[in-house]
Amino acid sequence: MQPKLLPMTKVHNFSAGPGILPQQAIENSISALQNFMGTNLSLIEVSHRDKEFESVMAEARKLPLEILGLGDDYDAIYLGGGASLQFCMVPYNFLNTKAAYLKTGVWAANAVKEAKFFGETEVVASSEDKNYTYIPKDFNIPMDADYFHYTSNNTIYGTQMHSIPDSSLPLFCDMSSDIFSKQIDAKKFDLIYAGAQKNMGPAGATLVILKKELLEKITRKIPSMLDYRNHFSKESMYNTPPVFAIYCSLQVLKWVKEMGLEKMEERNKAKQELLYAEIDRNEFFKGTTAREDRSWMNATFVMNDEAHTSDFLKLCKEANINGIKGHRSVGGFRASMYNALPIESVQVLVDVMKNFKP
Ligand SMILES: *Cc1c(COP(=O)(O)O)cnc(C)c1O
Repeated sequence: MQPKLLPMTKVHNFSAGPGILPQQAIENSISALQNFMGTNLSLIEVSHRDKEFESVMAEARKLPLEILGLGDDYDAIYLGGGASLQFCMVPYNFLNTKAAYLKTGVWAANAVKEAKFFGETEVVASSEDKNYTYIPKDFNIPMDADYFHYTSNNTIYGTQMHSIPDSSLPLFCDMSSDIFSKQIDAKKFDLIYAGAQKNMGPAGATLVILKKELLEKITRKIPSMLDYRNHFSKESMYNTPPVFAIYCSLQVLKWVKEMGLEKMEERNKAKQELLYAEIDRNEFFKGTTAREDRSWMNATFVMNDEAHTSDFLKLCKEANINGIKGHRSVGGFRASMYNALPIESVQVLVDVMKNFKP
């Protein structure tokens, strides 16, 4: 049987997560669901210990490091439980006396909440006073903490850290919604995690990258499934990994690798410039975040007259635009422009905005 083709109607997918993926990755995944690497079996009905899947796992662990320019002093694995489980695993494994957190949104706040179960948690700065519409700039990171944790892109509020904070502490980052979206100096980080479903694959797998020497710092007694050492020493096969999510993520990683982060950054830069220029030009709309902290991935904006919101959403629907209704805590609109979104889709949204007449 031939794989069923993808729908022909072009939908412009601005969904915040799970978000748009490269068509090629979805097609390859459909094909593997039907016949995985010539086995005449489906990807989801063979052992994860078969040599075919082992090769998928090996490549899926290698490519993130290659793309980010990390050497073999780093390692990568895939875990279940979403980025939210990392909010707990990170402090469980690494908060021995105290940890420092930057609180820039709901996800960052959830990470703080979990850390408090394990020890002293210092919030070095927060932008909660203005509903997380900006990134705090002047903050001091204590010298005596075990690590400093921050969120690189605040998916809900539409803000992004445009530089890496200086810290002498081990640097930990939740990159769920902007991983592989631009060039970064990844060597500055000791631990990076990202739920796959925003920018690198389907829900169900979370990528965790860490500097191997970090594992030696674990002193607490930790239940087996939550202990990073078990997952890293078993090369991401401590228990049955989420095979489909990993396979599909690998297809995305191959696409990212082929493009390279330099080109990816260029594409993403052009997309956000196009949209923010229209938000600023158009008298009916306004952005909700501090300009210098605007996210390239999630643009949040509202109508100057909120009464027009539903009319605009209707026009978007007619133009086959999906997923731009804002998060309930911000309102208005959120256009997520993840890696796989073509600039043509942004142009369609901009045209609808240009043509809007109340
Ligand atoms: C979506 C998101 C999360 C939560 O991810 P889950 O996989 O649903 O647990 C955490 N952090 C950021 C930055 C996110 O965008």
